[in-house]
Amino acid sequence: SEPLLKVENLTKHYALGLGFLKKSIPVVRAVEDVSFSVQAGETLCIVGESGCGKSTIARLLMRIVEPTSGRVLIDGTDIAGLKRKALRAWRRRMQMVFQDPYSSLNPRLTAGQIITEPVDNFERLTRSQRKSLAADLLGKVGMSAEMMHRLPSELSGGQRQRLGIARALALQPSLIIADEAVSALDVSVQAQILNLLMDLQQQMGIAFIFVSHDLSVVEHIGHRVAVMYLGRIVELAPCDALFAKPVHPYTEALIAAAPVPDPTRVRLEVPVEGEVPSPINPPSGCAFHPRCPLAVERCRLEVPLLVPMADGRVVACHVRAPASHIPAEPPTAEK
Ligand code: SF4
Ligand code: MG
Repeated sequence: SEPLLKVENLTKHYALGLGFLKKSIPVVRAVEDVSFSVQAGETLCIVGESGCGKSTIARLLMRIVEPTSGRVLIDGTDIAGLKRKALRAWRRRMQMVFQDPYSSLNPRLTAGQIITEPVDNFERLTRSQRKSLAADLLGKVGMSAEMMHRLPSELSGGQRQRLGIARALALQPSLIIADEAVSALDVSVQAQILNLLMDLQQQMGIAFIFVSHDLSVVEHIGHRVAVMYLGRIVELAPCDALFAKPVHPYTEALIAAAPVPDPTRVRLEVPVEGEVPSPINPPSGCAFHPRCPLAVERCRLEVPLLVPMADGRVVACHVRAPASHIPAEPPTAEK
């Protein structure tokens, strides 16, 4: 079926503001040729170290920034071409939850005002409508109706993140983009918020794009996972398959480096060594080659393309997924 969201060859380069000093303006290659799709009701996680471009993708999808090239399609329509009215409708369907709810919540408004504001912007609500909507939304995120009178400063970190989620739910979106949405919370509160998001997905069929540097979070919540390195997707796989058998050496190293929540699981000993290189001057060929234990000559010279594997994942690696592995015919779905 037609995906809810389709991202095609999305690229974002930023020119650094030093052009008047130098002949060549340094360019940050934040996002390079990224393609993926999200089905209705699905959770796609985007993981990688900081600076890999995952937050830039979130901002491109929200049209907070415009792409250098590439397209974002919602139900088959390119969002770049949307005029005012259609753009408003699109914005309604797509909401964002941020890492630090405190900085994204107006400190002078009560919880009730904060979560009903998005609806108020579209249709003027009466006082009693606003009150019942606030109570309803607070109920959805597991908070009591009395909380609507509190200010953000009177709430805990977990309560504030619930408020951020209630606000995102107010317009009944099809897709929520959560950028490091639980990273600032204690582990026990993280689990509560993740369970809440999964419950809401079940009840309301909402799709999520969950951006995180934390693989233990991703393992808990994801249906599919896109692993990014310096602006590019290097592996995109069903969540179970990715954790059971990472194929890209970077994915393998990330999983090996993550804290192990399940001590019975065997983890490979491949530390991610070395610094993340700068996206201003990314290494030639495969950008991971300076840190890769498997690198061969070709890796310095040629950017590896994403190659479909027999189990449905795609991997960009000359050694682990050489282009000659492309099946002559697409693998037939058994079951
Ligand atoms: Fe390592 Fe080469 Fe594969 Fe890149 S292409 S991950 S450098 S083996
Ligand atoms: Mg970020």
